[in-house]
Amino acid sequence: MRLETLAVHAGSRIDPATGAVVMPIYLSTTFERAADGSYPRGYVYTREGNPNREALEAAVAALEGGAVAMAFASGSAAAFAVLQALAPGAHVLAPKDIYFGLARLFREIAAAWGISVSFVDMTDPAEVESAIRPETRLIWVETPSNPMLRITDIPQIAALAHRVGALCFCDNTLATPVLQRPLALGADGVVHSATKYLGGHSDAMGGVVVLKEADAFARRLREIQTAGGAILSPFESWLILRGLRTLPYRMRAHSENAMRVAAFLAQHPAVEAVHYPGLPDHPGHEVAARQMSMFGGLLSFQVRGGRETAFRVAERTQLFIRATSFGGAHSLIEHRASIEGPGTATPDNLLRLSIGLEHPDDLIEDLDQALRTTP
Ligand code: PLP
Repeated sequence: MRLETLAVHAGSRIDPATGAVVMPIYLSTTFERAADGSYPRGYVYTREGNPNREALEAAVAALEGGAVAMAFASGSAAAFAVLQALAPGAHVLAPKDIYFGLARLFREIAAAWGISVSFVDMTDPAEVESAIRPETRLIWVETPSNPMLRITDIPQIAALAHRVGALCFCDNTLATPVLQRPLALGADGVVHSATKYLGGHSDAMGGVVVLKEADAFARRLREIQTAGGAILSPFESWLILRGLRTLPYRMRAHSENAMRVAAFLAQHPAVEAVHYPGLPDHPGHEVAARQMSMFGGLLSFQVRGGRETAFRVAERTQLFIRATSFGGAHSLIEHRASIEGPGTATPDNLLRLSIGLEHPDDLIEDLDQALRTTP
């Protein structure tokens, strides 16, 4: 089946009790046992298994082309579970420009689990290769990256990981399986902040890990999910599954709109630089064009001037909402360095845009008036 069809049907079934086309939300935390002590309907306790969570997991696994998926309370919980599934003493390679929340998690918390992390320029395979150690067990890729939209060559990094018996995981939050399928490109696992495009409406928080194989690592991860308990709630599983049904159409619209906005900004005299892999002069454009079908809805740009100018532009937009996160229908604008805090490498004159589903001409007019009226 094609992606659009999978997005509508995967994980869905007619409710056997009522015939409801859309699955109800099973809020019950506990399930009836048969007189002989067995659980003939397969459910025991919602932390271990819930029909809504299973439906979402089946749908994301199908869209990513994986054998199995697991849904967590957030993208961060999903990423953390992958680290927790590694044995103590493992070494991890992660990108220098990994999403800043995960950088903190990898740097500060993983160490207490006996896991060491080296941060490298993941867009430079030679640097990655020279940072690999005998105890390297995981190479983490985030492409496109947040917020600099750098592009990593997934097949190349996966091949380096496999040469030393390490796993390659790709954070596919920005691209989604509609635009990029890391498992088909050689990765062993995919991680999502489902809070973003999978949910798609800025009203549900969640995370998903998808694995290519249902192997021992998958069993360990499932144990961490169900025994550790950072599971996705039935309501949020239901909301994110609802979001998935329109994902292919939304991603197309986000990408088309973002391409228009990026092209507009690239020729604007008040703009110093635009970071969007769809632009032909983006350093990762060629690789992105090879491994992505379109370029997504997130972009960043640097204004001519400094932090104050960037703040004033964000103050003047009327349609773009000043807020963090991305992937919803509303367009958002964010001064990224100030949310990332001290020590960030994000330039002070950079604004990140989450391009929503409004008409692109309205978005362009809004940015134009904000840039033109900023002294
Ligand atoms: N990965 C990426 C690329 C992100 O941008 C984010 C959040 O912004 C996360 C992971 C973490 O997801 P969550 O906020 O759902 O914990």
